[in-house]
Amino acid sequence: MPKKPGFSPEHAEPSVKLSARGVARLQGRHPWVYRSDVADSNGVPPGSLVRVLDERGKFLGTALYSSSSQIAIRLISHGSVADLPALVAERIRAAIGYRKDLVSESDAYRVVFSEADFLPGLIVDRYNDVLCLQILTQAMDAAPVRAAVLETLREELQPAGIVERVDARIRELEQLPPLQSRLLWGEKSSTVFTMNSGSMNGGVRFHYDGLEGQKTGAFLDQRENYAAAAQYAHGEALDAFCYQGGFALHLAEKCSSVMGVDSSRPALEMAEKNATLNGREMEWIEANAFDLLREYASSGRRYDTIVLDPPAFAKTKRDLEKALGGYKELNLRAMKMLRPGGILVTCSCSYHVSASDFFEVVADAARDARKTFRVVENRGAAKDHPMLLNVPETGYLKCLMLTVSD
Ligand code: SAH
Repeated sequence: MPKKPGFSPEHAEPSVKLSARGVARLQGRHPWVYRSDVADSNGVPPGSLVRVLDERGKFLGTALYSSSSQIAIRLISHGSVADLPALVAERIRAAIGYRKDLVSESDAYRVVFSEADFLPGLIVDRYNDVLCLQILTQAMDAAPVRAAVLETLREELQPAGIVERVDARIRELEQLPPLQSRLLWGEKSSTVFTMNSGSMNGGVRFHYDGLEGQKTGAFLDQRENYAAAAQYAHGEALDAFCYQGGFALHLAEKCSSVMGVDSSRPALEMAEKNATLNGREMEWIEANAFDLLREYASSGRRYDTIVLDPPAFAKTKRDLEKALGGYKELNLRAMKMLRPGGILVTCSCSYHVSASDFFEVVADAARDARKTFRVVENRGAAKDHPMLLNVPETGYLKCLMLTVSD
């Protein structure tokens, strides 16, 4: 068998050996190998680029190594890698190129989506002229890699500002020194962006502030679902778990009234600013959506359009049963409140809840509601959040659009 470059014993990179189970993971085209499936990683420094070997020393590829995460190995290439910053730059350019064909009518989208763009631990979102990056692994945090990321993004996208959003918990888990969210480059950390500009009267506009807010900005993965939902929306609408108004503002053009519900006051304040930006008047209610839906359903309120987009209920596999109970309850109440001909847009972003689990729980709710629904659309995340066929973790978002026929 011909040797691959980088196969030579004098190669300077550290190497790790995998157990048979670890090898099987990679052969299954999954880039992650858990620590328990690493047979030998003696002396490998945190965040290194490592050569991955089987127990007999056969070369399997090159990976990013984490000394603290349960995911010890994230494969970055099936070949050898001489220059990680150069590879990262090339992969970022490829990710940008991929979106050129797939994203239209929006100046906000995910530019780089970690494993799904073969850049484990790097996320970059674009909000018009401001870029927001998140660094989630030791290897991506290394200074030469960071420098390559910034330079490539500046060259390719010419932003007015690049911010870094830091999740303190993730840095702690990766045993990286604490950092603050901050402007990394340029002058601008806030802007206005526009989605779905080919429809919706020139699109829906949103404020973005990279250094504020409860998360990294908008839920860009729902962008195409907003436009799809607007196609079917009509009458009186309720957007439960509305955050900064993503669905609600898209529904507004088609509906006689839209009410958004969320438990976060800062999210609703931003939703109201977004409504003003779009010249809309809407009602925002700060409440626990479970309580509100229970109360509304029992007091006989009715809607023509209902959106359910709750946070991930199942953060771990152990939460699955409870999470399914939560989805069942929400969907059952919403279904009861739908008028004949109404549309339900129901989402789940927990990746521990599979598409078939979700389908089943929604179907179960329909049985209890004693109503017949037609599946008008069975959707996932927008195309700028690609999914890898053999990496289920990349395909977490489910979005069903159902009409009630009786
Ligand atoms: N649909 C939104 C995203 C929703 S994210 C969009 O497209 O932009 C989930 C939202 O649920 C968050 O804004 C969070 O504040 C809210 N939330 C979490 N628990 C809640 C509860 N029990 N009741 C109401 N809102 C809740």
